[in-house]
Amino acid sequence: MEKAEIGLIGLGTMGSNLALNIAEKGHRIAVFNRTAARTDAFVENAGALRDRVVPCYSLEELAAAIRPPRPIIIMVLAGKPVDEQIAALRGVLSANDIVIDAGNANFRDTMRRFSELASSGLTFIGMGVSGGEEGARHGPSIMVGGTEESWKRVEKVLTAISAKFKGEPCAAWLGTDGAGHFVKTIHNGIEYADMQMIAEIYGILRDGLGMGPKEIAEVFSQWNTGRLNSYLIEITAKVLAADDPKTGKPVVDIILDRAGQKGTGKWSVIEAQQLGIPATAIEAAVAARVLSSIKDERLAAEKAYGGGVSKISGDRDALLGDLELALFAGKIAAYAQGFAVMSGASKEFNWNLPMPVIAKIWRAGCIIRSQLLDTMAEAFGAGGAATNLLMAPAFVSLMQEAHPSLRRVVASAAEAGSPVPALSSALAYFDSYRQGRGTSNLIQAQRDFFGAHGFERIDGQGAFHGPWGSGAAG
Ligand code: NDP
Repeated sequence: MEKAEIGLIGLGTMGSNLALNIAEKGHRIAVFNRTAARTDAFVENAGALRDRVVPCYSLEELAAAIRPPRPIIIMVLAGKPVDEQIAALRGVLSANDIVIDAGNANFRDTMRRFSELASSGLTFIGMGVSGGEEGARHGPSIMVGGTEESWKRVEKVLTAISAKFKGEPCAAWLGTDGAGHFVKTIHNGIEYADMQMIAEIYGILRDGLGMGPKEIAEVFSQWNTGRLNSYLIEITAKVLAADDPKTGKPVVDIILDRAGQKGTGKWSVIEAQQLGIPATAIEAAVAARVLSSIKDERLAAEKAYGGGVSKISGDRDALLGDLELALFAGKIAAYAQGFAVMSGASKEFNWNLPMPVIAKIWRAGCIIRSQLLDTMAEAFGAGGAATNLLMAPAFVSLMQEAHPSLRRVVASAAEAGSPVPALSSALAYFDSYRQGRGTSNLIQAQRDFFGAHGFERIDGQGAFHGPWGSGAAG
């Protein structure tokens, strides 16, 4: 029998769709799932693609079905199941075979797995996949970390199944070991910030302007035709327009305001802190989900303090214009933070992450895909964003135009009592970033006062102490 080009373990939501996508692009694929019934169901539902699918019921059978060196995608639950699967695969694979973890792994696990497998002659790829179920089936964004040689073996299949932006594949090799999973993690961190900012604007429209879901859907739908054009804005409009079949009410009104999370947002924040790179909008978004989860406490606090949002008055068209630009400015600041974290990690882990390529492969297929990413790709490509996206000439112009709106929106929201943690963090980051003379001269004086840490002077080299006298230090 003709050998399969690639193998896949884990026929859950993502794995089954990815496998069908691979088969559809003309590649023969061998599949295995822990629970055999799922393999049977997958094959049964493969329709016209059935001929390109080789169902396997043991790992030995799977290994035998693939052309060496064998690339095998693992798409199972992240964490321990991946380690267990790798351990089981070791027994059936040979030198140079390629184990690809396509789940949402912590990149530190990926680095560990990469070196553990290298010591036994196997190659490991950590592959971030974004785009959800639909993306997996018809074209995800694919972020690959591993050796360049192993990428060459799988490049053809992965570029074929990836999303395309104006014909360019949204799949790329980004660096060694954990590079792909790190970039996917930051992608998700940015996604948290993007979603949170959209939710904050929704909050202002709902509570500050008293608009209903359908009206708000219209606003987002309109914004999606302009500078905010993106998948997340598009689905927000659709979500807000949808009715609950059971009650006939807008579905968004019957959904409990308690957000879930699986970890990639938190990992983004932890790594940003480890690297010493501010990612305040992402942090605010993660914290907002945590606060959302303590619903009972929030209800009690509302009783204690009163929680109503005051109405925001003013010219409605002008307010809507400000909200659109505020979201745009907040988004730019959040992306600037995400890219800065990747830049820090690139140096720390010697990945040499290609920022223009990352922006390019996020332009289609993934959850944060947007028109703005094309502008970012151009800015990184032109070299103008080497220190920070906010320093790219194109983004200086965009922020010059948009930040006054962000300022007005954050101020009105604060006045009205409508929480905007991510937008206000983005604004504070921007203001701190552009402040040539900041206020940490005072921090340094305080540190020297109580801890004799010393400070630098603006008019001389070296470390100095202040004239604090005998009450100081301790
Ligand atoms: P599903 O829950 O749909 O499927 C889970 C799969 O993992 C099943 O095939 C299951 O096999 C298998 N599995 C679970 N535990 C084990 C184990 N101990 N040993 C072997 N196999 C096991 O998950 P998804 O497809 O949604 O997610 C898979 C990965 O993809 C995760 O890492 C997820 O974070 C990531 N991901 C998910 C996205 C999404 O939108 N859903 C988007 C991007 C990434 P069995 O049938 O035997 O239970």
